[in-house]
Amino acid sequence: LALLGPAPGAPSCPHGPALLFVKTSQGKEEGRRFYACSACRDRKDCNFFQWEDEKVSETRLAAREEYNRSHQPYFTHRQNVDRYKNFVLLPVSKRKFCQECQQLLLPSEWEKHSDHQFLCDITTAQLKSPSQLLYPLENKKTNAQYLFADRSCQFLLNLLIDLGFRRVLSVGTPRLHEMIQSKASQEEEFSVRSLLLDIDFRYSQFYTEDEFCHYNMFNHHFFGGEAARETCRKFLYEANGERVIMVTDPPFGGLVEALASSFKKLMAMWRGTEKEGHANKEMPMFWIFPYFFESRILDFFPSFSMMDYQVDYDNHALYKHGKTGRRQSPVRIFTNLTPSMIVLPEEEGYRFCTVCQRYVSSGNQHCEICNSCTSKDGRRWKHCVLCKKCVKPSWFHCSNCNCCTLQKHSCEKTGIGCFVCGKAGHKRSACPSLS
Ligand code: SAH
Ligand code: ZN
Ligand code: ZN
Ligand code: ZN
Ligand code: ZN
Repeated sequence: LALLGPAPGAPSCPHGPALLFVKTSQGKEEGRRFYACSACRDRKDCNFFQWEDEKVSETRLAAREEYNRSHQPYFTHRQNVDRYKNFVLLPVSKRKFCQECQQLLLPSEWEKHSDHQFLCDITTAQLKSPSQLLYPLENKKTNAQYLFADRSCQFLLNLLIDLGFRRVLSVGTPRLHEMIQSKASQEEEFSVRSLLLDIDFRYSQFYTEDEFCHYNMFNHHFFGGEAARETCRKFLYEANGERVIMVTDPPFGGLVEALASSFKKLMAMWRGTEKEGHANKEMPMFWIFPYFFESRILDFFPSFSMMDYQVDYDNHALYKHGKTGRRQSPVRIFTNLTPSMIVLPEEEGYRFCTVCQRYVSSGNQHCEICNSCTSKDGRRWKHCVLCKKCVKPSWFHCSNCNCCTLQKHSCEKTGIGCFVCGKAGHKRSACPSLS
């Protein structure tokens, strides 16, 4: 399956304009092109499908429009903001949250939810950390909501403050947004502001239209239309020299080209706010993503480099920072800022490599032959003279495949490299990087 990208005139599903795909085989495009939902890679979540050359009747178009309308959230963002205002006026004893509907309830609504589970006595502190109140939408194929561990979130925030940024465009980073919002409301001198762009509309219950935009990062769709787009544009305008950075932590589903295309549009929006100043510059960005997507990200953003910092999550069984025997997280920060400026915590073992001019993880040894710190996963890698590069410690050189790989592998040639890691011998679904 290959993505042909956002196409002009594409039909829409409830998640905005669909993306154009084509089936590929052996690297060649094959068969009819079709449109499918940009946001949901699981047909169960959104089954939108249309052949590119399909004639759609007026009746079906009308039915589709009606379907899209009826699949929008029950309350508008505006209504949710008004509801919140009323909610905070209630005494704590009357503040209920329906866990089934994931919704703050006003007393007149209790009845309707009477056979649902409630959380009661919702405090102001709870309202300030919605990511704790809401359950994470973990369904892998769509939301893949994996929340930063506090340590990683705090690290990111301190880092961008130290770098001098005062505005954060939080794209799919509700927990970072929430940390900024809550500090801003509690600490007088704290002057950082954040705008959250996320597809999870539940957050509209807690944030105003200036703090949250319902947004799809796979097709750059603002559900709130031109007004929301304008909010974002205004936010990106660096009034009083307040510098902006975009931080994003997208689902790792693999539509890197769709993400890159949206992020380029956000960069263009930023560039457009400043006539002369930004002409040839890029909006500073942290793109948080697994290390095995490095080459894919660099394809689209050659100015980016990958930092060694391992981003940890709260609710991710694999990437959690354990008390004993930490599982190493494969998630990294990709950035277009100068690597030497990204200071990583020495107390966690990171050190500065003066040759590479960047912080590296403790196990990452500088290879004299490659003349760089070559480890991607934090373990010490070894140099293979035949491959002329450093490889994972567990790999061996296979003379059949003429490259280094796992000792246990089948020497079959598929001709075309894996979509994820670029190596031959397996397809994306069997990529060892993903397991
Ligand atoms: N680590 C981050 C959360 C990352 S999980 C934090 O703690 O703040 C991925 C986030 O992207 C989730 O908030 C999810 O709702 C959002 N998301 C998933 N698909 C999206 C899409 N198509 N458009 C915009 N946001 C999306
Ligand atoms: Zn309910
Ligand atoms: Zn080497
Ligand atoms: Zn080798
Ligand atoms: Zn692979």
